[in-house]
Amino acid sequence: MKNTAEIFGENVFNLSVMKSRLPKEVFKEVLAAIDDEQPLSSEAASVIANAMKDWAIEKGCTHFTHWFQPMTGITAEKHDSFISPTDDGNVILRLTGKELTQGEPDASSFPSGGLRATFEARGYTAWDPTSYAFIKDGVLCIPTAFCSYGGEALDKKTPLLRSMETINKQALRVLKLFGNEDVTSVKTTVGPEQEYFLIDAKMYKERKDLIYTGRTLYGKLPPKGQEMEDHYFGVIKPRVQAFMKDLNDELWKLGVLATTEHNEVAPSQHELAPIFSTTNIATDHNQLTMEIMKKVAKKHGLECLLHEKPFEGVNGSGKHNNWSISTNTGVNLLEPGDTPYENAQFLLILTAVIKAVDEYQDMLRISVASAGNDHRLGANEAPPAIISVFLGTELQAVLDAIEEDKPYGAKEQEILKIGVDVLPPLPKDNTDRNRTSPFAFTGNKFEFRMLGSSTNIAYPNTILNTAVAEVLKEFADELEGSSDFRNDLHNLIKREIKAHKRILFNGNGYDDSWVEEAEKRGLSNSRTTPDAFKHFLDEKNVKLFTSHKVYSETELVSRKEIGLEKYCKLLHIEAMTMIDMAKQDILPAVSSYAGDLAASLASIEAAGLTPVFEKDTLAAITEEMKTACEALKKLEADTNDSSSIEDFEVRADNIKDVIIPDMEALRASADKLEGMTDASYWPMPTYGELLYGV
Ligand code: ADP
Ligand code: MG
Repeated sequence: MKNTAEIFGENVFNLSVMKSRLPKEVFKEVLAAIDDEQPLSSEAASVIANAMKDWAIEKGCTHFTHWFQPMTGITAEKHDSFISPTDDGNVILRLTGKELTQGEPDASSFPSGGLRATFEARGYTAWDPTSYAFIKDGVLCIPTAFCSYGGEALDKKTPLLRSMETINKQALRVLKLFGNEDVTSVKTTVGPEQEYFLIDAKMYKERKDLIYTGRTLYGKLPPKGQEMEDHYFGVIKPRVQAFMKDLNDELWKLGVLATTEHNEVAPSQHELAPIFSTTNIATDHNQLTMEIMKKVAKKHGLECLLHEKPFEGVNGSGKHNNWSISTNTGVNLLEPGDTPYENAQFLLILTAVIKAVDEYQDMLRISVASAGNDHRLGANEAPPAIISVFLGTELQAVLDAIEEDKPYGAKEQEILKIGVDVLPPLPKDNTDRNRTSPFAFTGNKFEFRMLGSSTNIAYPNTILNTAVAEVLKEFADELEGSSDFRNDLHNLIKREIKAHKRILFNGNGYDDSWVEEAEKRGLSNSRTTPDAFKHFLDEKNVKLFTSHKVYSETELVSRKEIGLEKYCKLLHIEAMTMIDMAKQDILPAVSSYAGDLAASLASIEAAGLTPVFEKDTLAAITEEMKTACEALKKLEADTNDSSSIEDFEVRADNIKDVIIPDMEALRASADKLEGMTDASYWPMPTYGELLYGV
């Protein structure tokens, strides 16, 4: 048996492998490509490709693929073998520099939101050397960006890389103001905490709703849900433990720093957290983590559910996006530090994040909007759909003192001067953290908690990076010409805190009074995806992304189109699945039971006795069947009408206002019927079986 240190990264063509296999000069080029985004020469690319191929073949690979993240949200791959024919009828195994750096997959079936007419079916993929190649299932995977021939990004990765470039540029300008001459690059870092459910695979296969939609569309709550709170951090069951061990091994081989695992709040819900890394790598790794989770679960006779709301009535799953900015010299810019100088720099960066979140709250909301996540945000289990920033009492007090020129702290009776005074120590302890906040400062990073469990984290981080880059740019523009830096810095921070303090909220985000308060403060509150998307192309948003060259206007339009189309298609599938299940499974099952009840009732009466249970139940079932049938008919008719609406924006509204309420009505009635029907007649595993079946 190999130990963890031995298996860690064994399937990754990482720096140490490259160092040992590449000529010195080529290795230097790789480092320059990674650290300073210098382009690779074609000679270097050929050498790297050859070394990569030899390494992969030694490890048993026969194929390679460009691995990319199209706008479906999942990853895509198309396998090509290394074989290449020779004149004498044999083959040699090779990977050319060109095959490494550029591919041309047929892109016509990936969503492009009108970016690429189908007759120009080809897009191209380009190697992203900042993310290492790896081996998965005997295939060499080369992480790539995916673009159209016109250069428009057809994926989630390209805009993310662009956003990292722009925040790098602007943060460097700001750091120069503080005299950090040794810093040459700044990168955002992310550690995503991933929640998921594990259920028994046999039961999964008996639920059409889980198979087609990833969530249950029917199901009465069992007598016990999560109210006892006995699952959170509870003892992990042996079968789950075996899964987690296997999962860790597989992830470690791929160089994913999976480190924390525990049970979550809902029964059969769990969480995995990695050690953070730069955002582009964290994105690749989170995509891999989700894929490997599903695969390993199957090996253990389990099914891993990544849907945001697999079960009504118990918590859904999210992803906490822990985010910070670090320099190549190893300084975390959200670390308050100990000296007045470090504190001042920290306060400026902190102010930039606060301002960015306030000004682009609508885009951040959009970045986490999906049909699945609509079940969570604002439902007293995840943060509300309103974006606010939590700082904690100590840091909030510091900002208040700056804003109001007030003395801070018990000892010092002097006004807090940025760049002169030392900040009090800020606790990093997590016991007093506000779990209801969508965007919380947690000591040396921000935790963006609104992401759905299945979200590709590239997108929210693209938005966050760009918004912060814009504010850093504004700050740098203002301060670069300053003749009294300390004073101007102080005034800028003071002014911006005053201007954006409406976004700061340290109270309970689950409280109804917060909704009212937020409205008074003018914060936006988009409860649903269609509502949130209405702000997608607001002038200030288009200006933000185009001026930083993160998305062109066409790319933005396409993303809005794809998001709405996906919403409509998913809900259409859900509605159709509900209709099928009602007609083919649920109503027929209840009907057989009702028939048998009627027969018993008749025999008991024939014996001259009074069939109380039979009579009452039959009456109640018959009554409820009427309601269910009406709800079914309405859902069918409305779904039919809805599917003929061509404009996805109009259709999304129709779904939200008409179809979803129809679905809820049908479900409510079917769940009541479940409660009245003999369990042996029920055509699928129940909530109790699913949630407590592992
Ligand atoms: P929690 O109490 O929420 O579990 P942790 O401190 O363990 O908090 O961190 C949770 C996640 O945050 C982990 O994935 C961790 O790697 C990540 N994290 C820690 N520091 C940073 C940072 N500077 N940048 C990004 N993510 C970070
Ligand atoms: Mg967390």
